[in-house]
Amino acid sequence: MKWENKSHELDLVADKLLQKADKYKYVYLFGAGKIGISLRAVLCAYGIFEGFIDNDIHKQGQFKGYKVYSLEEYLKKPNGIIVVAVGEKIIPEILRQLEDVHLSKGKDFFLYTEFYNTIFPVLSVYLFDKSFINLAQISLTERCTLRCKKCAHGCFAVDNSTTKDLTLEQVKKSVDSFFSKVDFVQEFVLIGGEPILYRHLSNVVEYIGSRYRKQIGIYSITTNGTIVPDEKMLKACRDNEVMFHISNYSKTIPGLANMYKKLTDVLKNYGISYNLDKEEHEWMDYGFDHVDRNASEEELIRVFDSCKTPCREVRENRFYFCVMARSVAENMGFHVGENDYLDLDALPGDKGKKELLEFTLGYSEKGYLDMCNYCYGADMVKYPIPVAEQEEKAY
Ligand code: SF4
Ligand code: SF4
Repeated sequence: MKWENKSHELDLVADKLLQKADKYKYVYLFGAGKIGISLRAVLCAYGIFEGFIDNDIHKQGQFKGYKVYSLEEYLKKPNGIIVVAVGEKIIPEILRQLEDVHLSKGKDFFLYTEFYNTIFPVLSVYLFDKSFINLAQISLTERCTLRCKKCAHGCFAVDNSTTKDLTLEQVKKSVDSFFSKVDFVQEFVLIGGEPILYRHLSNVVEYIGSRYRKQIGIYSITTNGTIVPDEKMLKACRDNEVMFHISNYSKTIPGLANMYKKLTDVLKNYGISYNLDKEEHEWMDYGFDHVDRNASEEELIRVFDSCKTPCREVRENRFYFCVMARSVAENMGFHVGENDYLDLDALPGDKGKKELLEFTLGYSEKGYLDMCNYCYGADMVKYPIPVAEQEEKAY
């Protein structure tokens, strides 16, 4: 979307939400499981978390120190909204249950993805006067231990022996800029390439943890699971409550299963939480290595608007809407889109919150990124590809 009325693009959306402002100060998470617990921190930070709702009678009452209500108990309470925080498979069942008691989607309850991606960021600025981002990442290195042919960051094109990582100073500058403008981020992720290759990783984990941990819901590292971090890194991750997301490419590379086992055993020993993905069966192709739309401005705006990638990235003063666009452009030498970012340091005082919100929700001067010309965008679902096929033997 092109900016036409910067800092006021969402005024009407906010006005509508604020008509029911009181409801949004009493939020209940439906589902006292992994997802619900991970979403709780932000609501607590804003002082609006009222408790969980769960159908499991064993969780009702108190569960792991939280209040858990049955739906019947919730219905006796005035006001409030429900955020449905359960796995995809049981969403339809919960939605039916809520509709059966005459609650309406979009008014009385929301799916957590919709709530955290689009509704809460608006409420955060217009109701609480704070900036909220759902997901932000920092790519510490573009080097990787694998060379996936279709890496969405184009890391296969990087020479591991000559490519420069971000310096520790650049990383500090990035997070200082980011957290000077953002009050709370639901998930802040250290990524790569393979971030465990980054030699200052433990310093970074500590730097961010000691300064900004209270502004982060989930503080995490995404790894391909091929390296077990050293003791210093493990201690830093444990002390700063960093969670590991481990990709699972063992269908294509069976030898990885043993590495995942080694890594998860060590993480368990250190009491570090982790999420080992289910064995991935297919990826979707962004098409960066062959798509060239030669598209008009109108078409590029359409591609961008329908894409809705959640992958924001911070890199020094620059806040990128799409980490794939930034990294592929650099790693594969596209030489386009160098200015497709928001300058965090140039954001003006109070007005800056609305500008940042609008950028995060897809507004910009051009209304698209140059790299959208070389990407399938939302159409990538039509192009399934094998997971993590390797260019050459990588390890
Ligand atoms: S593991 Fe594969 S997809 Fe992930 S960063 Fe490395 S090369 Fe890219
Ligand atoms: S369409 Fe544009 S914004 Fe979406 S993934 Fe591709 S490059 Fe990124």
